[in-house]
Amino acid sequence: MKRDRLKKLAAEKRFISGIYNYCDRWCERCPLTSRCLNFSISQEEFPDPEAQDIRNKAFWNKLSETLAESLELLKEGAKKWGIDLDTLEFTEEDTERLKAKDKAAENHLLSRAAKRYVGIVEDWLKEKETLFFETAAAAREGVNLEEALEVIRWYQYFIAAKVIRAVRGKVEDDEERDDEFPRDSDGSAKIALVAIDRSIAAWAVIRHYITGGAEGVMDIIAFLDSLRQALEKAFPNARSFIRPGFDSMTK
Ligand code: SF4
Repeated sequence: MKRDRLKKLAAEKRFISGIYNYCDRWCERCPLTSRCLNFSISQEEFPDPEAQDIRNKAFWNKLSETLAESLELLKEGAKKWGIDLDTLEFTEEDTERLKAKDKAAENHLLSRAAKRYVGIVEDWLKEKETLFFETAAAAREGVNLEEALEVIRWYQYFIAAKVIRAVRGKVEDDEERDDEFPRDSDGSAKIALVAIDRSIAAWAVIRHYITGGAEGVMDIIAFLDSLRQALEKAFPNARSFIRPGFDSMTK
């Protein structure tokens, strides 16, 4: 996308600023696509199904073009703030410090629990695959079960990614004694909580339909519920974090 077009599009009033920062990236199911700049860019850039195919070379070429244009705009914006991105230097010490923070966030109890959930889902699905599809057919409610599975799969890795991001942000906020609100870490924790809530609901749908192995499902729900509570405790302001567009009033 050309820079002028990108600028013009970004200036449109219909877009909610920063709406994509705390969403779940599930654009196919998003109720606010018409208010999202990210979505509009991708629609304009990849209008036909072939171009949307991730394996299509055109996809990557267009993506790099957009990235290059966006970086130029970013540089222009930074200059206005007196920052020259070309001369910004990262010392080895800075890199080591960032790596240490990443590691600390990944090793945090909450992050480890969220990552554990990824494996729990994988194990359960492997073990119950046949049972699941047989039950889906028998219940003649395949759509509901399929949708529940779709929700579980969508958030399986997403939860851990957002928990780690939240923990990482909190470590930084605490270190820098940053008391400014709203905090980005609360926003990440909020979307992780939303994903956990939805996953619990999806597991409950599965629990409703399956005739065998219900205990395993209850264990997973209990695990997610504990993770939810621990996250709420660690991020007491997360639930009240207002995500642009999703939690705020939209015109
Ligand atoms: S706000 Fe909605 S449309 Fe925009 S990136 Fe997030 S999920 Fe996709």
